[in-house]
Amino acid sequence: MEVYGMTMEYEAIIGLETHIQLNTITKIFCSCKADSWMDPPNTNICPVCTGMPGVLPVLNEKVVEKGVLLAKAMNAEIQKISFFDRKNYFYPDLPKGYQISQYDRPLATGGFLDVPMPGGNSRHVSIWKLHMEEDAGKTKNELGRRLIDFNRCGVPLIEMVTGPDIRSAGEAAQYLIRLRQLLRWIGISEADMEKGHLRCDANVSVRPLGADYLNPKTEIKNVNSIEAVKNAIEKELERQKKEYDADRKVEAWTLEWDEDSQVLKKMRSKETEADYRYFREPDLLPVVLDDSWKQNILSDFPELPLERKLRFISEYGLPDYDSEILTGERTLADYFENSTKSYGGDAKKISNWLINDVMRMMNAAGVTAGEIKLSPAHLAEIVRMVDEGTINSTTGKALLEKTNSTGMPPNQIVSDDGLAKVSDDAAIRRVIIEVLAESPKEVESYKAGKTTLMGWFVGQVMKKMKGKADAQTAKGILEEMLDHN
Ligand SMILES: [Zn+2]
Repeated sequence: MEVYGMTMEYEAIIGLETHIQLNTITKIFCSCKADSWMDPPNTNICPVCTGMPGVLPVLNEKVVEKGVLLAKAMNAEIQKISFFDRKNYFYPDLPKGYQISQYDRPLATGGFLDVPMPGGNSRHVSIWKLHMEEDAGKTKNELGRRLIDFNRCGVPLIEMVTGPDIRSAGEAAQYLIRLRQLLRWIGISEADMEKGHLRCDANVSVRPLGADYLNPKTEIKNVNSIEAVKNAIEKELERQKKEYDADRKVEAWTLEWDEDSQVLKKMRSKETEADYRYFREPDLLPVVLDDSWKQNILSDFPELPLERKLRFISEYGLPDYDSEILTGERTLADYFENSTKSYGGDAKKISNWLINDVMRMMNAAGVTAGEIKLSPAHLAEIVRMVDEGTINSTTGKALLEKTNSTGMPPNQIVSDDGLAKVSDDAAIRRVIIEVLAESPKEVESYKAGKTTLMGWFVGQVMKKMKGKADAQTAKGILEEMLDHN
């Protein structure tokens, strides 16, 4: 659209619909194993989840409990009574011909997530829908045949839909990053997009900047990484802007993201909700969440990542950067706090050792802070030994590895292996005499004025003493011997 030769400026309007696979052991309405990752097709199924006639669903209470935790984390209002409904549609991966979901009386209503954006702003994303439902199966085309796997039928999901509050592809990515962090933090989902534990459809439209109406939106499906969500939304925003610029209309299509070719393909024109003919599920009782059950579920509700990050800044005086990393994952945040308490000194020092050295060890071993053998108390002890001058920091770093691989207390390793720093003048002096005798050329250059060689001499001494010499003492003796002889 051109107005007097000016190009129209647009605003993006984005809402995200996420399906979160809960990490329960069994499915939502039967006792089949919920997680079928890598299992052969149709091995975790029974008459209930394959919709045989005459069977009755029984609600898994763990699904309600995990749903309540999420509702609380999303600042939603948890409902005392909610109902299951049948959402009717036909698809080969849906053997019952309907999906058991929640419609007008869901587990929770309202809610929001304030998502911090790089650069310091934050986006208030409202939650329009939060309900429990069962998953459908999977179909795929292979060798000209349509194959169906029912393993995923009846896997518990929370569907969560945001308001149209997100304003760019980058914001959509940030929302998903924060949601994923939150889901893992409260322990209700592995939230791995590649494994389908967290799935996202994006509703996308554009409107002239400053307008107060909404244009038709398209729905992008089948995106299975945060990067792909971002790319697909960016492409679709560009396409819609071009359509409006050329005075064409945007229709309410459903689009499918093709990861390999990085293009969006039209799937179908979108169904409206009325097509599903929802009605109450007659085989299930209403979900009654009485006060004692609710209190029990929420009794050890954790401090959430963003609150904890702010507390790390105010309580321990950590920089924003450190706090962000340390609250990336809950066991890491716990590790930091436990080490700091055990250490009793400057928390920033623990943060440095943790971020620079211990996290590298965790990444190399593929373990989390909750799994690493090196305990928070061991880390604190090693940092303390460096502070006190018992060992130097090079030895301290080697000691981290050794403590981790043996599980032995660091002070015992130091005494067993004779790692303690040698600050004994006589011992260092003996080595210096050796070094000077072996390096006549360097001694001559130094005496002729090339004093920058001091670092090299200290290095030679450290090498001979396997890093255990106190560098300051060595330097003092070297200066004394070279400058006054
Ligand atoms: Zn089953």
